[in-house]
Amino acid sequence: MPIPAKVLQKTSPDSPFQVATISRRDPRPDDVVIEIRAAGICHSDIHTIRNEWGPAHFPLTVGHEIAGVVTAVGEDVTRWSVGDRVGVGCLVNSCGTCAECEADQEQNCLNGAVGTYNSEDVDGTITQGGYAQNIVVNEKFVCKLPDTLDFDVAAPLLCAGITTYSPLATWDIKPGDKVAIVGLGGLGHMGVKIAKARGADVTVLSRSLKKADAAAALGADRILATTEEGFFKKHRGEFDFILNTVSATLDVNAYLGLLKPRGVMVVVGLPPENQELGFYALIIGRKVLTGSNIGGIKETQEMLDFCGEHGLGAEIEKIGVMDVDAAYERVIAGDVQFRFVIDTSTFDDIAAE
Ligand code: NAP
Ligand code: ZN
Repeated sequence: MPIPAKVLQKTSPDSPFQVATISRRDPRPDDVVIEIRAAGICHSDIHTIRNEWGPAHFPLTVGHEIAGVVTAVGEDVTRWSVGDRVGVGCLVNSCGTCAECEADQEQNCLNGAVGTYNSEDVDGTITQGGYAQNIVVNEKFVCKLPDTLDFDVAAPLLCAGITTYSPLATWDIKPGDKVAIVGLGGLGHMGVKIAKARGADVTVLSRSLKKADAAAALGADRILATTEEGFFKKHRGEFDFILNTVSATLDVNAYLGLLKPRGVMVVVGLPPENQELGFYALIIGRKVLTGSNIGGIKETQEMLDFCGEHGLGAEIEKIGVMDVDAAYERVIAGDVQFRFVIDTSTFDDIAAE
């Protein structure tokens, strides 16, 4: 039987969120049903639902930082049992047979991975995300939450955590490395925590020093304001590695100048506009500029285990389902330390349209 779910839905980029009831699919033999306890708000949700990455499929429910409890399992499910504490991130399916899927890189599935929302599912329907009471997901796209982390601080790890963990692990960031994290938002603050846990010397590059106390509390060794006069000249050639998490256009060439020779800048922030790159900035000093997209399911589990071991939950502000429109405005204004998380139990108090 299809499963009813109250969700937060938008019918167009400009309409407010409203509570509606949708039907989750009748669980297949390899599906699990998850009661969602907490759902993080990622800037990608905002880009998507405001059509900043192209026209979205409306009506739409976003949300890909999902933490909850398994409430039912299909007859072929082997990995999960009712009562398990689990998470779901940005992916809910992939072909499972291409070279990328076989290499545990489902995010690069050559036949097109299925995103948690706004994506065409294998049955032709459009996937609906985690600002919801429940979700039905193929068991392979479910991860185990660490016992040491509550649902609300664990939820953001499913996107902000893996998106920062994966490049830091791929480029083998280690003690002594001078790492800069650009943008202290949802992704950036997890980047600081994870880079510190790997032993790096971590500098936050923020627009101002407003977040100085918070940066220190996260463990950052220092914070610098990029708007300070002469900043790019003063700090030229200082870093081995830069992780750019900014949701808006940046002067990429100027940031490449902050790298030491052979330094690496990984871009994860995805603003809607194209950026201008001058090859000079790469050629002088043989710099590396690359990107990174979340991570595969195996690495997501590895990240969750790492965060559990090191006690790395997200720093959050918890909100009810009726507060999400206001929260979006605050994310855009850079006014959240550092992730809004929706307490999905607040759906219980609201009648669906
Ligand atoms: P967020 O919480 O809004 O943080 C973005 C940060 O960027 C802000 O806190 C701010 O840091 C900085 N910033 C914002 N506007 C700026 C501007 N005009 N100039 C300079 N800096 C600015 O967003 P998020 O959830 O961390 O997501 C960040 C980006 O990553 C988004 O574009 C999102 O779509 C993308 N993303 C990519 C992946 C992936 O797999 N590659 C996964 C998730 C998200 P300061 O206040 O410190 O300056
Ligand atoms: Zn995200």
